[in-house]
Amino acid sequence: MSGYLGDLSSVQEKSLEELKELLSTEIITADEATLLRFLRARSFDAKAAYNQYTQTREWRINNDIDHILDQDRPLEKEVKKIVSCGFHKHDKFGRPCYIEHTGRMDIAALLKLPSDQFIAWHIWNNEKQIQRMTQLSKKFDRPIESMVHIHDTAGATMVLRKALNSFKRVAKLDQDYYPERMGKIFIVNTPWVFPVLWKIAKIFLDPKTRAKCVVLKSSELHKLGDYFNPEDLPEEFGGTCRCDNGCLPPIPKHMLEVKDNPQLTEQSIGAKKTFTYTVDCDSKKGDLSIAWYFKATSKDIQFGVKFKPKPHSGWKDDANEIDDIWVEDLEPILECETSITGFYAPPCPGICTLVWDNSNCKWLSRTIKYHVMVSEADSDSDEEIPTNGNKENS
Ligand SMILES: [Zn+2]
Repeated sequence: MSGYLGDLSSVQEKSLEELKELLSTEIITADEATLLRFLRARSFDAKAAYNQYTQTREWRINNDIDHILDQDRPLEKEVKKIVSCGFHKHDKFGRPCYIEHTGRMDIAALLKLPSDQFIAWHIWNNEKQIQRMTQLSKKFDRPIESMVHIHDTAGATMVLRKALNSFKRVAKLDQDYYPERMGKIFIVNTPWVFPVLWKIAKIFLDPKTRAKCVVLKSSELHKLGDYFNPEDLPEEFGGTCRCDNGCLPPIPKHMLEVKDNPQLTEQSIGAKKTFTYTVDCDSKKGDLSIAWYFKATSKDIQFGVKFKPKPHSGWKDDANEIDDIWVEDLEPILECETSITGFYAPPCPGICTLVWDNSNCKWLSRTIKYHVMVSEADSDSDEEIPTNGNKENS
């Protein structure tokens, strides 16, 4: 049973009655669909749903959320200069859609926005979407309780990592006060750094939200057709919609030049040889991260990552010499010709070494194509630090 109105198991039915009972002493009215949303979010634990429901109501009253749409959207002008985003029609189920060019967001400018106002901007959007759900429910004559998002991540670089803390805050707010409002999150046109960013983002998304994410590379964009009628999807996402003033506001000009694909360097590794790429991680500003991307022509190649903390750098202050630590053990690669990506954020200054080992192969040399990128999370610059590393074929 789905746990939606008209599709309840006897246990779910009982939880709903229990929740109504808990609320019976309060002077509030909530329809069953709303109560079921809170119950679904709390796995039909009536007491937990009751707590979340009352906390949400208190939060709404204290922040006058019911009247937030009477005012203009906060940061309207500022956000236009930072990212192209907007509400756009609905999916096949009638769920209102929000589209954002997340990959071409000016992260440095975003981080300069007052955080309480950024949160208010997000809440305003949520309330607008709920208003649209009501309108669409009338239009389609059936209850529509959730929304969908399309996040176009084309152009995203590791710099996006700096914004993850802001995203984390809004994800927490949504989980607390907008239970079961997210229907699907389409993350499309994912760039090569995406697996790395996703690894970090997944940590703060609850399993239910994670399960709602559909990740599509640009070659898979046509799959959006399973969820949207062509006339409701902008052309750039494979639909046929051409709204009069553009489906979305334009992408800020200064964000258009961001390059998508890394320049790969080709490297041949002789039989019984090892190729290493060393990055000196001595950031004064802290929080360096190293991301790599490579393809290999053979599964004989083993890959690993080691890190050697600098003496007196906060790792082991009494030692003058610290041994390498394998942060990723040397292991055979599982697939050749598919891209392998990874990420490491050193805990202290030191030397990070990427190792491609062909020593198992006694006769043949092997080729890899790779790209390594270093970024500073606290840097004011939104450019990645160009890195040449120290290469060694031995
Ligand atoms: Zn349109």
